[in-house]
Amino acid sequence: MAASDYARPPKNPDSEIWSAAALSEAVRRAGKEATKAGPSTERSQELPYFQRYGIENERGWESSDRTSSPLEVQQRQPYFLESSSLRGEAHPSTTSLGIQARRDFPALAQRVNGHRLIWLDNAATTQKPRVVINKVHRFYETDNSNIHRAAHTLAARATDAYEHARSVVARFLGSQSPEQIVFVRGTTEAINLIAHSAGQRFITEGDEIVVTELEHHSNIVPWQLLCERSGAVLKVLPVDDRGNLRLDALYRVIGGRTKIVAVTQVANSIGTVVPVCAVSAAAHSVGALVVVDGAQSAAHFPVDVTELDADFYAFSGHKVYGPTGIGVLYGKRNLLETMPPWHGGGSMINQVTFERTTYAQIPAKFEAGTGHIAGAVGLAAALEYVDHVGRSAIERHEHVLMEHLLETLEAIPLLRIVANPDVRAGSVSFVVDGFEPARVAAHLDRHGIAVRAGHHCAQPLLRHFGLVATVRPSLGLYNCLEDVETLGACLRRLVRSS
Ligand code: PMP
Repeated sequence: MAASDYARPPKNPDSEIWSAAALSEAVRRAGKEATKAGPSTERSQELPYFQRYGIENERGWESSDRTSSPLEVQQRQPYFLESSSLRGEAHPSTTSLGIQARRDFPALAQRVNGHRLIWLDNAATTQKPRVVINKVHRFYETDNSNIHRAAHTLAARATDAYEHARSVVARFLGSQSPEQIVFVRGTTEAINLIAHSAGQRFITEGDEIVVTELEHHSNIVPWQLLCERSGAVLKVLPVDDRGNLRLDALYRVIGGRTKIVAVTQVANSIGTVVPVCAVSAAAHSVGALVVVDGAQSAAHFPVDVTELDADFYAFSGHKVYGPTGIGVLYGKRNLLETMPPWHGGGSMINQVTFERTTYAQIPAKFEAGTGHIAGAVGLAAALEYVDHVGRSAIERHEHVLMEHLLETLEAIPLLRIVANPDVRAGSVSFVVDGFEPARVAAHLDRHGIAVRAGHHCAQPLLRHFGLVATVRPSLGLYNCLEDVETLGACLRRLVRSS
């Protein structure tokens, strides 16, 4: 089954994901699926700053994308934008997507230790396409300014670019409006923001917060800290020995005291795709809020937060071909509006006196201080790039690669794949008898192949499988069958040497 199908609400409630009686009951109790709100009628955020504040735009610059010299345009045109036949979903063959996309990523043109670089560490971070690098470069060269405050031309350009980025993210996630998009440093910061702010607003002693055994430490530790502050109790949804979330345990763990259910959409260590809608329905049936960690899903298949009925959704720019240090928190409007600010400082206020401060509207209320303006601009370029390639095309392409990767690894003696979830995206973990994971990764690096070895910030899950570390290759849109073949050949050589 395609990862995105598994992640969506079921078209057929009797489908395999939803067959359990408990789940149909959850759907019934949770009421109708999330109502899909129409697009925002509040367009003020999208009006160019020039128009909103009447600033002269003497260079005829337009907010969404300034036109540069033909040479500059050519340099920054990604391969997928050059050839109209390759636009969107129209790929000649799914396996050639990676070969073609690779040309858009300058870092992949280099040789490492004398070999063609094969980047299979995408779950940790992705390489950046030229269009993103150029966008950030151009921003600093011509538009750099602080935003929202000054009444001068560069401030206007920078503000427009930043707010345009917010609209791009909103469209990418299916958010009802750009104001529901808060720029943060990344998934970690987004989850900490929710734990602090929603924690302060909604959590009291004796409440329960539910996470799953699949989580990255970023979706465990902030909740533990909240429990320490508030006297709430952390509960855990277990996985089975294949690495699937135990849906039969949903109603044992989620109950009347549950206030927050925080769940990853894709497990970073073993690639399990979680049927978030099932979890969300169960959580909503008891009135709990659902926090979705999208760090490992946003780059791999289409995501629609409205369809998921997520109360919060977080992802990191650097895992979706964008810059580091920029990420996104999406939240339902009524929640963001009633939650207290987390950080205090400039930009997030309405009025300050020594007696009392009133706060700005969302999203400014949650964006104290100067954010990563160029990062947001680069992130928008990355998401536009991903959408030009086509998220469904990426999903199909990576699915083919994943099948080939699993077959290749399964055929290698002494190698054991960790977990065998029903639906997997992005990552696979394995161990090789007699070889420390770090030694395997170092061997691969000598052949130009980058993979991650370690605990992947998922120690509880690795412990479930009796392990402290694994080797984890993880896929991106620029990988191709040759990358998988080369990985397999290198691993076979290592095993033969034992
Ligand atoms: N959650 C998951 C599932 C992740 O894979 C990661 C990054 N490995 C994070 C959260 C944290 O992301 P970041 O370090 O970008 O904040």
